[in-house]
Amino acid sequence: MLSQVADPVVARIAGKIAAGERLDAADALALYGSHDLIAIGALADQVNRAKNGDTVTFAANQHINPTNVCVLRTTCTFCGYARLPKEAGAYRYTLDQVLAEAASAADGLTKEFHIVGGLDMKAGLAYYQEMFRALKSNFPHVHIKALTAVEIAHIARIEKMTWRDVLIALREAGLDTLPGGGAETFSAAVREQIAGKKLAGADYIGVHRTAHELGIRTNCTMLYGHVETHQDRVEHLMMLRNLQDETGGFLAYVPLAYHPDDNVLGRELHREGTATSGVDDLKMLAVGRLFLDNFRHVKSHWIMVSQPLSQISLHFGVNDLEGTVVREKIYHAVGAHTPQGMTLDGLLELIRGAGKIPAERDSFYNVLRVFDSPAPEPVGA
Ligand code: SF4
Repeated sequence: MLSQVADPVVARIAGKIAAGERLDAADALALYGSHDLIAIGALADQVNRAKNGDTVTFAANQHINPTNVCVLRTTCTFCGYARLPKEAGAYRYTLDQVLAEAASAADGLTKEFHIVGGLDMKAGLAYYQEMFRALKSNFPHVHIKALTAVEIAHIARIEKMTWRDVLIALREAGLDTLPGGGAETFSAAVREQIAGKKLAGADYIGVHRTAHELGIRTNCTMLYGHVETHQDRVEHLMMLRNLQDETGGFLAYVPLAYHPDDNVLGRELHREGTATSGVDDLKMLAVGRLFLDNFRHVKSHWIMVSQPLSQISLHFGVNDLEGTVVREKIYHAVGAHTPQGMTLDGLLELIRGAGKIPAERDSFYNVLRVFDSPAPEPVGA
């Protein structure tokens, strides 16, 4: 498969993949520990090309963060976005404010609202039902991808309902799919340190399993680059792969880089100003591609790892980029220096610059239109 691999461990794993064998936990651990990044990336690139060719997809989406009020404000130490109800900067959108923020979707280009926020005691089932109904009524062509597993469990708790009944009620109001946030790292020891009161990893999987059983597709994530070990990462990936074997309900895997600015954890770790390394960012994507053999889509989140690194990641197993976004708040609250949105031309340029073919997709990863690559400019012209 790969003719020149310096690390014998990666060469052995390349042989397994060429033979159609599934990687085990020890293989994933070895990949995280290897410094042969280029060989790992080339292997992930081959696996990705076999599934997706040279096409790189994106969605014309818009993020809406309706409330930053959160009951876990003091226990999610990695978060810089949340506020207590009376704290300076706390906000909760009215329906009119949500519709005003969504108004740019009237251009007909936006195809997806990505809606996530805090665990707000005053944002229960009725708040989101009213929001989704109004969004569907005003923008019937726009898909609603909303509420992480953690938010679904929060609504269930305050409304004294089951996860299943909350999902059914929200689907009736217009919910189409769930985003993958809130997974952080599933390890109980890590959660204790960075998100002590957050929904347990097994329950995150449980909410997604319930959604899949109802026919609601979801994404999944892993927050990395904080206190987790390579072993923790592998166990997390294994839980995702096992659920995908069981239900096939995940659309994409999206690793999320921890940002240490403006949050308690960053100060505790003396990490402020020091984001994840480019090597680790690329390895997270590539190992995810190799280990999650039952996923078709691996997404790079340019807001978190930068546009240049996302572009390079298109040669490390990635076939999907975060979309146009419009106005992102959560990662900018913890020090992301990337723009809060990208134009369509900017995304096309980024993908074409990597020698790939850009394609707009819908929220279920059906290709809507392919942008044929223009002929390359002559050098020196
Ligand atoms: Fe709340 Fe989510 Fe921030 Fe935790 S990470 S404090 S659940 S908004």
